[in-house]
Amino acid sequence: MKNLNKKEKKKDQENKKDYSLWTNLKLSFKYAKHQKKEFILYFIFNVLLAIIGAIAPLLSAKQLLKLTDGILSELMAISILILIIEISRNLCNLLARKFSQIFAAEILKKIQIDIAREVLKIETSDLDKSSSGIFIDRLVKDTGRIADIFLDLNMSITEVVTNIGILFAVFVINKVLFFYYIIAISIIFVIEKIRISKFISVDKKYRKDAEKATGLVGELVRGVRDVKVLNASESFMKKISSDIKKINEERYEMGRIRRTYTFLSGSIRDILDFTLVALAVFMISKNYLTIANFVVIYMYRNKIFDLLTLVSRVLEWIKDFNLSAGRVFEVIGDDTFKKEKFGTKHINNIKGDFEFKNVHFGYNEEKEVLKGISFKVKHNETVSFVGKSGAGKSTIFSLLAKLYEPTSGSILIDGMNINELDCDSIRGNISIITQSPYIFNLTIRENFTIVKEDLTEEEMIKACKLAKLHEFIMSLPNGYDTLVGEGGLTLSGGQRQRLAIARALAQKTEIILFDEATSALDNETQKGIQDAINNMKNEYTILIIAHRLSTVINSDKIMIIDDGQITDTGTHEELLKTNKEYKKLYEMELKETK
Ligand code: ADP
Repeated sequence: MKNLNKKEKKKDQENKKDYSLWTNLKLSFKYAKHQKKEFILYFIFNVLLAIIGAIAPLLSAKQLLKLTDGILSELMAISILILIIEISRNLCNLLARKFSQIFAAEILKKIQIDIAREVLKIETSDLDKSSSGIFIDRLVKDTGRIADIFLDLNMSITEVVTNIGILFAVFVINKVLFFYYIIAISIIFVIEKIRISKFISVDKKYRKDAEKATGLVGELVRGVRDVKVLNASESFMKKISSDIKKINEERYEMGRIRRTYTFLSGSIRDILDFTLVALAVFMISKNYLTIANFVVIYMYRNKIFDLLTLVSRVLEWIKDFNLSAGRVFEVIGDDTFKKEKFGTKHINNIKGDFEFKNVHFGYNEEKEVLKGISFKVKHNETVSFVGKSGAGKSTIFSLLAKLYEPTSGSILIDGMNINELDCDSIRGNISIITQSPYIFNLTIRENFTIVKEDLTEEEMIKACKLAKLHEFIMSLPNGYDTLVGEGGLTLSGGQRQRLAIARALAQKTEIILFDEATSALDNETQKGIQDAINNMKNEYTILIIAHRLSTVINSDKIMIIDDGQITDTGTHEELLKTNKEYKKLYEMELKETK
């Protein structure tokens, strides 16, 4: 276990190395590829803004000198020039913002779509280990930060370059004041560095905890009914409150750091302002400096003081950008979350034969769930699996749909190894109807079209008739256009399963895997589902996980699964004769139903 932890830590570090600033920038630029025009325009207007920013204080200084010298005609000319320049500044600002918005929106859209697509590709075993909050927060919050910081960085870097130019001008005018500025900005820089390092460490924790809280809130919303029925509102609230409390404490701490350091650097700048004037007064009195030069240098003081604040802010944004981009590209790349791999072979018309050859599998290294499973199913056969709960029946289904991969052994579809087939050949030909199928919070019709876009009205109605659902749907006020609520809440368990069956029928997948519901469905519903399955028999390859033996009587083959192994196979009649345990279970069930 210790070894494993070490390994995981090492892997963690390797991942962090993978997402260096350079990698993140390269990956972000990839998304900006088609927005070059906007980015260049944004850059040009930023440069113009920086130039105006450099000229404006110079003009103001001139304006002040003309005023003190009483040269009113020149004062007027300079004032008009300042007006023109300020209007141009506003215009440049407007246009820079416009292009930055277009740029940010486009990048945001592309990254978000990519994340959504990549989440769907993550290996099921990795999804099992992750909270949904991880993906929601990264999709919604971190992507936004990437685009924003990308632009902020550009703006700040242009400004830094301009301000360095100004600092150079001060060097030319007066060396003493230049060195004064160097000392002053170094002090500001040190304070900023401390602030940033404190801020980033809290921010990192905050984001991790925030995504955990998002996941929990998501679970609360989805599981609200169960939470109520389990009378678990109080304990759930306790859990959520402690998470919310934690993230708010962290947010407060970030605010506190910001507040404290704003006060500190503000006060220090006031002191630096004062010492600058004091030093200048001394130098003017000693004739080391002219008033005109001092006015110019003084006008630029904010730009110069801002220089290292800007530099440290750029460093902060780079760190922030790296944090967000790392979290986003971690989802998109495949180092942290492994992505499903498929082969390249495509089968157009699948027959529906398949075979498990000595398949071993475990969800983790500690426990083997399937211990050498081998069986063959011919197309259009109906095969049932029976056995205790936890024996590994559903796992067989998951492996067949390639939701997980066997640790050893192979699975063949139509004689071809599943690993060689592309995703469409496998999942486009297999439907799994689970005990609690996921029904999307859309209309009934949309629940069909989401799995088959070009489905016709007739095909949909035919599928629903076969699944014994059509009459029920027609009794709803809006028929096929009725919204079914989140997770199909407004439907009963049996109706949800029949809708899932109809969905599978509409998809026309050749292989249908059906996990019969264990929940006590009323006889009518049970019969409805049974009829639906009987309707499909001989036309599809059907695998059933049967919880009631009455369901399996008509199967072509029944397999008994125990502790990850097939312990017996036969038809219902054969097993009644040869398998005492099966016979006992069947007789017990008959008694119960009498
Ligand atoms: P059955 O369908 O026969 O009731 P399953 O195939 O669902 O059994 O489960 C077999 C074993 O695998 C059980 O011990 C179960 O706890 C475990 N298991 C099932 N799904 C997962 C999963 N996603 N992660 C870890 N273990 C799992």
